[in-house]
Amino acid sequence: MPDKYGIIGYPLKHSLSPFMHNRYAYYLGENESYEAFEVLPSELKNELSRLYDAHILGLNITVPYKQDVLNYLCYIDGAAQMIGAVNTLKYTNTGYAGYNTDAEGLSISLKESGINLKGKDVLILGAGGVARAVAYVCISQGCSSLSVLNRTYENAEKIANDFSGKAYDYSSTDSLDRHEYIAFQATNVGMYPNTDEHLPVPDSLYSKFSAGIDLIYNPKETDFIKTVSKHGGKVINGFSMLINQALASRKIWKPDEIIPADIRRKVFNECTDYSWS
Ligand code: NAP
Repeated sequence: MPDKYGIIGYPLKHSLSPFMHNRYAYYLGENESYEAFEVLPSELKNELSRLYDAHILGLNITVPYKQDVLNYLCYIDGAAQMIGAVNTLKYTNTGYAGYNTDAEGLSISLKESGINLKGKDVLILGAGGVARAVAYVCISQGCSSLSVLNRTYENAEKIANDFSGKAYDYSSTDSLDRHEYIAFQATNVGMYPNTDEHLPVPDSLYSKFSAGIDLIYNPKETDFIKTVSKHGGKVINGFSMLINQALASRKIWKPDEIIPADIRRKVFNECTDYSWS
C-alpha cells in the first residue's frame, strides 16, 4: 500500500499540488500517492475524520479552509497560530497537527528574487488567509510599516490590528501617501479563469511600487504584474512560493527526505509546463 497524501479545498480542479507531489514521488522512487479531495464546506469536519481513519499521512489545505480547519486539530504550530491559518496537516496518533508553510514558501521566494523587506514600507492588497502569512513574513523580516488594503475594510482592520499595521479600503487609496512600497497582491482577482479582472487601484498607486509580488501563479502575468512592470517596478509571481511551500510541507511529512537539486529542477520545469502550457 502506498503512503497516502492529499489536498483539501473547494474548488480544486486547477490545483497543481497533485501533479507536483506525484512527480516528486516518481523521481524519488517513493511508494506514495497524492490525491485531490474536493470538499463542500458543510462536509469539512466529517471529511477530515474520514481521511484520518483512512490513514492519510499528510494533507495540504487550500481555499477556503485554511482558517476553518483550525477547529479540528490536535496541535497547532507556533507560526501557524500567529498567522491564524494552516495549510499543512500531519497525521499523529492523537489527530492531525497543523502547520503553515505559506510563510516559509514566500520567504524563500523573496530571498531567491533578492527582495529584502527589512526597513521597507509594505502594502498588502487583500486580507484573506494568505494575506495573514504575508503579514507574518513582513513583520518577521522587520518591515518598517505595514498597510493592508482590502475590499472589505473590517477584514483589513483585523489583520492590521493583529500585525501592528494600518487598514484601508479602495475608497481611501489617496491616503496611502508613502513614497515607495513593496506591494503584495494577495486577492483572487485576476486568477485563472478570470484573467481579465483587475483591482480598483489607481495607476498613481502602482507608480509607488518598487516591487510587486503577485501570489497568483496562474496566469504567469496578471494585470497586477503587467501594471507594476509598466511603471518600472520589479515583479514576481506566486509560482516559486507555491513550489517552496510544497517542499516545506514535504519536510514536515518526511523530515528525512532529501530531494536532490536535479529532481527539484526537473519537477519545477514540469510544473511550469503543466501550469502554463
Ligand atoms: P481568501 O482567504 O479567500 O481571500 C481572498 C481575498 O481576496 C480577500 O481579501 C477578498 O476580499 C479578496 N477578493 C476576492 N474577490 C475580490 C474582488 N472581486 N475584488 C477585490 N477583492 C477581492 O483567499 P487566500 O487563501 O487568501 O488566497 C488569495 C490568493 O492567493 C489566491 O489567488 C490564491 O491562489 C493565492 N495563493 C497563492 C499561494 C502560492 O503559493 N503562490 C498560496 C496561497 C494562496 P474580501 O475580504 O473583501 O472578501
